[in-house]
Amino acid sequence: MNSKIWLSSPHMGGTEQKYVQNAFDENWIAPLGPNVTLFEEKIQSFLDQDIQVAALSSGTAALHLALILLGVDRDDEVICQSMTFSASANPIKYLGATPVFVDSEETTWNMDPNALEEAIKDRIQKGKKPKAIVAVHLYGMPYQHDALRSIANKYEIPIVEDSAEALGSTFKGQKCGTLGDISILSFNGNKIITTSGGGALVTKTKQLKDKAVFLATQARDNAPHYQHSHVGYNYRLSNVSAGIGCGQMEVLSDRVNQRRKNQEFYTDLFQDHAEIKVMQEPTKDYYSNFWLSALTFEGDKAYEKRETLRISLNDKYNIETRPLWKPMHLQPIFADAPYYGANVSEELFNKGLCLPSGSNLTEEELSRIKQAFQELV
Ligand SMILES: *Cc1c(COP(=O)(O)O)cnc(C)c1O
Repeated sequence: MNSKIWLSSPHMGGTEQKYVQNAFDENWIAPLGPNVTLFEEKIQSFLDQDIQVAALSSGTAALHLALILLGVDRDDEVICQSMTFSASANPIKYLGATPVFVDSEETTWNMDPNALEEAIKDRIQKGKKPKAIVAVHLYGMPYQHDALRSIANKYEIPIVEDSAEALGSTFKGQKCGTLGDISILSFNGNKIITTSGGGALVTKTKQLKDKAVFLATQARDNAPHYQHSHVGYNYRLSNVSAGIGCGQMEVLSDRVNQRRKNQEFYTDLFQDHAEIKVMQEPTKDYYSNFWLSALTFEGDKAYEKRETLRISLNDKYNIETRPLWKPMHLQPIFADAPYYGANVSEELFNKGLCLPSGSNLTEEELSRIKQAFQELV
């Protein structure tokens, strides 16, 4: 059988080992050091000189700290996009707060502004104003930033921008990762760039970044002994991992271009296919890194057709694809959480499929993919 074609696999640029070697040479084998600082600077200069970056051990850790910095506490409510990876929602539970899930809209597959406003109004009426809104740019596609921002401002609720999948994407030219009151990034192994595992918190002020770093390093007070007046976490990024990140930042723009080419490849491939729609940018305001390309089946029996395709690709061609994220309000762990919206995310989950989207797909792999699809659909 042919070798496996993955959905999204790590893609080193070539200079990562130089930075990792520096860490060894200088014996900075620790969750701090020159690579951590340099990695933060590189992210900052890519995103916006006016923001602040704290490199952390994961995107999940960054979300946890973001909610803490916004004052989320036990029994609070936090609004969260339902269609997302569970890591967007789990940190709400870590704090003993309740997630309130909101449906997606059909153009970006992200948080529906109408359902968001309905949720806020209803929660306020029921006695609790949500403490934060966790909005996600799924698969790299920016959410409807203008609409979400104006609702957030109207009700004075901060946005936690989950930009784990959207480094390199922009909305009206503004970079994803700078659109939230607080934002997070992920450098997990399958993301557009990786540190093997890692993440970052993006804040607007140095003060907030310093507070995040303080909490991420066990919240040690300024004293010669170990003195603590806050609960701390061990969430800082390793200097070895940060070295990988420094190398990866040098090729980020290439990676975005390569993933965007994959999306064009699929758009061409299914151009004459009435039943299959490849996910597209709704307007020129949206620039996606197309971390993952995805398609939906339109019309009857979409779920059955999607499953047949997915299983055949795997079993006959050794090509990995995956259904879209299963909405959180349908997950057993969140069965009791409130939900607002219709069934847009549910339908997307039933009819959508993520396609092999690595920036390291070879010409040969792309032609294998093309041939497989031509034989199957
Ligand atoms: C990957 C991801 C995260 C979590 O990032 P980790 O670094 O894996 O902890 C959070 N949200 C979304 C949408 C993600 O895709």
